[in-house]
Amino acid sequence: MPVKSPNIDLHVHSTASDGTLKPAGVIAAAVEAGLDIVALTDHDTLAGWDEAFGACPPGLTVVPGLELSCVYSAAGKRPTSVHLLGYLVDPGHPGLSTELTRLQEERRQRGEKIVERLVAAGYPISWERVREFADGGSVGRPHVGRALVEAGVVESVGEAFVELLAANGPFYVRKADIDAIAGVRLIVDAGGVAVFAHPAARRRGRVVDEIAIAVLADAGLTGIEVDHPDHLPAERARLRVLAAALSLVPTGSSDFHGSNKVNRLGEHLTEPAAYQELIAGARGSRPYVG
Ligand code: AMP
Ligand code: ZN
Ligand code: FE
Ligand code: FE
Repeated sequence: MPVKSPNIDLHVHSTASDGTLKPAGVIAAAVEAGLDIVALTDHDTLAGWDEAFGACPPGLTVVPGLELSCVYSAAGKRPTSVHLLGYLVDPGHPGLSTELTRLQEERRQRGEKIVERLVAAGYPISWERVREFADGGSVGRPHVGRALVEAGVVESVGEAFVELLAANGPFYVRKADIDAIAGVRLIVDAGGVAVFAHPAARRRGRVVDEIAIAVLADAGLTGIEVDHPDHLPAERARLRVLAAALSLVPTGSSDFHGSNKVNRLGEHLTEPAAYQELIAGARGSRPYVG
């Protein structure tokens, strides 16, 4: 009998950051969506791991991970926001823990500044309410977006991003993110493997060029997200060629955020061979097999 190929989604958010389902809810939704392997990759935190493991039923594998907020700087170019997925890091790694603690505080302060700017412009939201939406997790712009929806300013979190929360908008405040090369090294040093998240997601703002991806590959990057909801088909084709040229593992993922985004769980998948190649180099922790 032919063995069914596993469905693998390697980029998913929970309430530990800016998703709307609790980690246990993400796991239930993963089963519902027919996934066999799902990675939990909350922004700048590992806080959802234990709940996800605890909720993992037989037949499902949870790959513990994170999405690290970084910035790429090159001479003569403006610094560009870069997200790195880190899989199977050691949760007890001191350098990583220190950086994640710093980023949590940075996110809180920056979130409060964004709210202050919006309030000063007359938008009826409050930092207290935004914190409630964040519910103890990594504070992010989608939480501000939910407060704006609740206040009736916009109809959806997505609409809030068109102008009010956009990176080139008047209310945007930068986070002091870790340098992307240092970010790759930190993930690798913590025993994990690093994948460049949505490298061609132009819709969200500026993206880096292929030279930057090559530089990060030299620094120890293992893969790049090729199939992602924010990538147009032509970009996916180009990234697939680039991945092969740089010996990077191509991945596919949904970047599911619950109802904060339209992305459907399992919307894009990673090939089983790519998954095996990706995790072969990890030694910080192991996939949790339910
Ligand atoms: P932050 O980490 O606070 O800078 O916020 C970035 C987060 O906002 C990312 O996780 C994105 O997934 C999310 N985001 C970006 N654009 C949109 C959008 N158009 N709709 C909903 N969420 C978005
Ligand atoms: Zn997010
Ligand atoms: Fe991202
Ligand atoms: Fe993400």
